[in-house]
Amino acid sequence: MADYYRTLDVERDASRDEIKRAFRRLARESHPDANPDDPTAEARFREVAEAYEVLSDPERRARYDRGETLDPGSFFHGTGSLDDLMRSVFGSSSIFGTGTREPRVNRGRDVRVEVVLTLEEAAFGVEKAVVFRTALTCEPCAGSGSGDGAGLRACRICGGSGQVRMARRSVFGSLMTLTTCRACRGDGSVLADPCATCGGEGIREGEKTVQVDIPAGVEAGNRLRLPTRGEAGRRGALAGDLYLDLVIDPHPVFERDGNDLISEVKVGMVAAALGTAVDVPLLDGGTHRIRVSAGSQHGEVIRVPGKGITRLRTSRRGDLFLRIKVIVPTRLSRAQRKLLRQFADAGGEEFP
Ligand SMILES: [Zn+2]
Ligand SMILES: [Zn+2]
Repeated sequence: MADYYRTLDVERDASRDEIKRAFRRLARESHPDANPDDPTAEARFREVAEAYEVLSDPERRARYDRGETLDPGSFFHGTGSLDDLMRSVFGSSSIFGTGTREPRVNRGRDVRVEVVLTLEEAAFGVEKAVVFRTALTCEPCAGSGSGDGAGLRACRICGGSGQVRMARRSVFGSLMTLTTCRACRGDGSVLADPCATCGGEGIREGEKTVQVDIPAGVEAGNRLRLPTRGEAGRRGALAGDLYLDLVIDPHPVFERDGNDLISEVKVGMVAAALGTAVDVPLLDGGTHRIRVSAGSQHGEVIRVPGKGITRLRTSRRGDLFLRIKVIVPTRLSRAQRKLLRQFADAGGEEFP
């Protein structure tokens, strides 16, 4: 009977984990998909799988250790159970692609983050720290994925090409197709000693802070793209891009209309009639003195040029439009009422 321990190249007291690791390694090396030109590969692969079937099962392993004869026919019930075995160990019934060329997965993914700005920040630009969770470069291995600096060795499965040839049966007979090597994910190389922190990926999950210069004049719904500031790439590969979707909080005083600002200026009834000067607040701080001419009506608009929002990527600014709100007093003293009646009399205004 075959020496299963020798087949898997493990000690007789090997743990289940050691046996599983040994099988994973040997299955990759002897899988027929990885050895399309070697007619003995399938037989070797079956030997390895048979040894694993027995040694991974405590009950069967005990019987095997006692020297009992096991019926090899019970090992694989057709290809289905071999597929199940592969799936349980590799997460896929084939460890080498599915026949379709898969895109390389090394590049980091793009990340989208919503950034909320005040109207002031949108109008005049701001430097913002944007914080989000994503894949970061693993520090202990500096993203290389390699634990001891031993670096990479050529992948034994594909011989360094990153692709394996696979025979597929079709109505035309056996066709050779090229598929991405699963063992190295198409890299052509594998790590001699993977980093213990990241398991050889070169990336780890964490919080990332990116300083972003938001230009003056951005609008809600604008999207800023920061190339390679997204998710870190696997093993030092290019990072994904960072997309910032801008949201702008409503402002208590100013409304925005493109690059113009709209707000209102409250003027007393008498001041509107006689004309006055008013200091109005500006979005960028401070105040600006405007002249309200005599006879200004409620709802009239005063334009203040150049006090609006900076036009994106220019130094020009839109305007500020002030809608006049004439305040009519609601509580009059006896003296005021008397004066207003005299005022109306003087103007020939009639009362009921
Ligand atoms: Zn490979
Ligand atoms: Zn690492």
